[in-house]
Amino acid sequence: FQARWWALSKTKTVCSYCGTGCQLTLGCKDNKVLTTVYDEDQGFHNGQLCHRGRFAYQFVNSDKRLTTPLIRKNGKLVESSWDEALALVTERLTQAKAAPASLAALSTAHLTNEELFLFEKLFRGTLGTDNIDHSAGFAHAALTEGLKASFGTVASPSEILDIQKSNLLLVIKTDAYETHPVIGFEINLGVKRKGVDLRIVSDKRGKLGKLPGAQTTVHTPGSELLLLNALAKVIIDAGLADAAAPGLSELKAALAEVSLEKAAAATGVSADEIAKLAKDYAAAEKALILLPIGLGYPGHNAALAEACANLAILTGKYGKEGTGLLVMGEKNNSQGAADLGIHPKASGLNGSAIIDACISGQVKTLFVAGENPVVSYPNRAKVEKALEAVDFLVVADLFLTETAQLADVVLPAVSFAEKSGTFTSVGRKLQQVKQAVKPVGLAKSDFEILNTLNAALGGQKYLNQSELFAEIAANVPAYAGLSQAALGDEGKLLPVAPSAKLVPVAAQAAAPVAGKLALVTGSALYHSGTMSRFGEGPMLVCPNAYAELSAADAKVLKIEDGDAITVKSDTGSVSVTAKVGYRLPQGVVFAPYHFGEGSINAVTDGKAVTWVTVGK
Ligand code: SF4
Repeated sequence: FQARWWALSKTKTVCSYCGTGCQLTLGCKDNKVLTTVYDEDQGFHNGQLCHRGRFAYQFVNSDKRLTTPLIRKNGKLVESSWDEALALVTERLTQAKAAPASLAALSTAHLTNEELFLFEKLFRGTLGTDNIDHSAGFAHAALTEGLKASFGTVASPSEILDIQKSNLLLVIKTDAYETHPVIGFEINLGVKRKGVDLRIVSDKRGKLGKLPGAQTTVHTPGSELLLLNALAKVIIDAGLADAAAPGLSELKAALAEVSLEKAAAATGVSADEIAKLAKDYAAAEKALILLPIGLGYPGHNAALAEACANLAILTGKYGKEGTGLLVMGEKNNSQGAADLGIHPKASGLNGSAIIDACISGQVKTLFVAGENPVVSYPNRAKVEKALEAVDFLVVADLFLTETAQLADVVLPAVSFAEKSGTFTSVGRKLQQVKQAVKPVGLAKSDFEILNTLNAALGGQKYLNQSELFAEIAANVPAYAGLSQAALGDEGKLLPVAPSAKLVPVAAQAAAPVAGKLALVTGSALYHSGTMSRFGEGPMLVCPNAYAELSAADAKVLKIEDGDAITVKSDTGSVSVTAKVGYRLPQGVVFAPYHFGEGSINAVTDGKAVTWVTVGK
């Protein structure tokens, strides 16, 4: 960077990418973030950051940032003043208030807790709609629903520090090195320094599986629930279950028909391997289940969290250090969004239902805060059709994303480096976000935007975010008694008091489709790419959309590494670069979902597995 160390202003804050919640220090000069500083006294991770935290801050300074509001006039987005843009949005939201069912709002979980709380107050409170969501109702939103059913809380009953205190880690479905790399480092330390036994259950091999002694159980895509149910069945049949586990007789009855041999055939994992994994998990003095997951995994996430929780509850492995279930939210404030109830309650629509309702004509006005559903939601063509169908679309974001390009009004928002507030991390750590630089151009924080709209539409006007935090503390039990100021540099671990209940989970493995490959999507970069595609670090690691094939499938299809290929499903098709690797079993294709060009969500359909053909 172009400045001397001593000439930088230094601000301690929290990374705005994944839910790990790493603390970092931003080094700034001339209102630009020039570096992140390694500080071994910071955070549970002793200052270590992954490539995103360390090298992906450049999106803050990008010359592609939105610096002024835009209004669509004669079919084109043209620059406007804030007064004109907010007056138009206020007018249209006032009209929508008369018919709240026709109004919907989607948020990203990148917003601060205070902004998310205000988002909910504006749309649910002031405007009266229950059609609000984050993460499309998939991913963390669904997982926390599962947690609530099993443990009576939307927060994980475990924390990140439990990783190194465990004897056995059961990592389900994906690779923490890719999704939450600093948690990957914690696992690495646990394995190498403390001898933690690492077991991975996934539909592909990954970097975690290369740690010494790690054992990876590779199952056929879409069969993970069946596999987890089979593990529970082995534990019960072997007499290893806690006889006092609440709901044991119901779970026993629900699993009565599960046969190890049939599960082996459907999952592709031998009966012996299933039995050994179940017995090793049950025998470990302290075992922790990790579920690192994101929007790349739609499908059956609530059931996935419940099936994992069943293993912990059956064996009494929760509520003690080194045990339990750690659900790893994709975004920096996924846990905050769950804690604050940014999802529909009784009568509202979740994110995917909102997309359907835009197409059917029920939803006519849509407000999107920081989310990019065109890229991040399944079935891109359907999402684009939905956004084009609404009468009025407002998007507040940092960049003119694929979603913002379809909007009637675009409001320039600010990044984590330009605002203050709090985020809640995966392990329930509530931490302060501190402003390091001034907003670019005329951009405003989501707090300012939502606060102005809320007041204009008849709601309360807040003086600052501390006032909002005080309301959170008064209304959300886990935050009771806290204030922003009391968090200090260290932050506070939020309390959790898990109850427990075994929840029977219906499981059907996805049936193979002759002549087609199973597509699984996930992370290689970060979410919809809104931030990471504007950072040099991530772009060096993963510059283009790709689809990864096994060497065996590549040979049959006569595809070589680097070839231009087309991935096609009943939903759509996309052109990407082929990557031929060691990680995938035959019959499976993997693609990350972060890219606007070559977006794999042009092909997906919202199910756990999409069946595709691949060719040159
Ligand atoms: Fe940021 Fe997550 Fe990387 Fe930590 S692990 S530095 S929170 S992206």
